[in-house]
Amino acid sequence: MVKHNFNPGPAVLPRIAIENTAKAILNFNGIGMSVLEISHRSKDFQEVIDEAVALFKELLQIPKGYHVLFLGGGASTQFAMVPFNLMKKKAAYLETGAWAKKAIKEAKFFGEVNIVASSADKNFTYIPKGYDIPKDVDYFHITTNNTIYGTEIHTDYNSPVNLVADMSSDFLSRPVDVSKYALIYGGAQKNIGPAGVTAIIIREDILGKVTRVIPSMFDYRTHIKGGSMFNTPPVLPIFTMKETLKWLKGIGGVKKIGEMNIAKANLLYNEIDRNKLFVGTVEKDSRSLMNICFVMTEPYKKLEDTFMEYAKGKGIVGIKGHRSVGGFRASTYNALPVESVQVLVNCMQEFEKNHLI
Ligand SMILES: *Cc1c(COP(=O)(O)O)cnc(C)c1O
Repeated sequence: MVKHNFNPGPAVLPRIAIENTAKAILNFNGIGMSVLEISHRSKDFQEVIDEAVALFKELLQIPKGYHVLFLGGGASTQFAMVPFNLMKKKAAYLETGAWAKKAIKEAKFFGEVNIVASSADKNFTYIPKGYDIPKDVDYFHITTNNTIYGTEIHTDYNSPVNLVADMSSDFLSRPVDVSKYALIYGGAQKNIGPAGVTAIIIREDILGKVTRVIPSMFDYRTHIKGGSMFNTPPVLPIFTMKETLKWLKGIGGVKKIGEMNIAKANLLYNEIDRNKLFVGTVEKDSRSLMNICFVMTEPYKKLEDTFMEYAKGKGIVGIKGHRSVGGFRASTYNALPVESVQVLVNCMQEFEKNHLI
């Protein structure tokens, strides 16, 4: 059966990226060895990482003065590395969900955290507005897409201080004005590749301002100097990410994928709003284009497991909501085809016909 993969992460990848990875595992570049068996400093692999960096820069039109790094450790390591490298005394954070809270927790190990606004009062169902970004902080940290709660910041903020963004779950899902950010990071496994590699875009002039000692592996300057090869990088995830970026360029880049992501999300949100059995969980102007969260209305709520089984029967995978929200979460990342969203919408319509009282 064809599977419709709505997993929140690790998540759906372009088929061509998987096939090319499989080929490179068997025989890389026709060299008679696997990509898994060669030195990361070999010419063949250097070409892979160079191409990945070049594609990243091209796709996001990254201005001069920025570096692109591919490191291990996941976005969770960045939660600590950001304050380690950037926080002199104080930083501002926007508290929009579980990942933001984890970032705040790590930052507190390094200094004072000013939570400028929070949506915790309504279980993170909206993006706070109408607050001032303080000017007496070393940086302002945001989470652009809140994977668990399904909210998203759709614009690039103007910040009076260095803007740092966790873009793990909407990296390369739309055009972004990189010049408005000092640092952007994201684990690849939501939208741009497999688990194991974290992509970082960093403006070099923000570094070297703190006085604390930073161990080599946690110092961004080490990795800039080493071209992400200070130590052995996650070779295979970088290869697959490069193939995913190539695919993205091939279909028309971030502008095109942005339009496609809007179309996919609209298709599903329109059905959620129309269908009497379902209701969205977040405020409309904060709705994520990547993680679409919804629950069943009363008196149908008791049918949630039945709907999950019904959807499973149609090949739909990964729509169970996070335990802190319940219901359903359909992750509609770049590589998810619109056809899969249509299958889910059809499923919801059929379920309404069968159960509406
Ligand atoms: C998944 C996720 C993380 C954590 O990523 P890891 O790579 O597992 O450390 C951080 N932030 C956001 C927004 C996420 O979706």
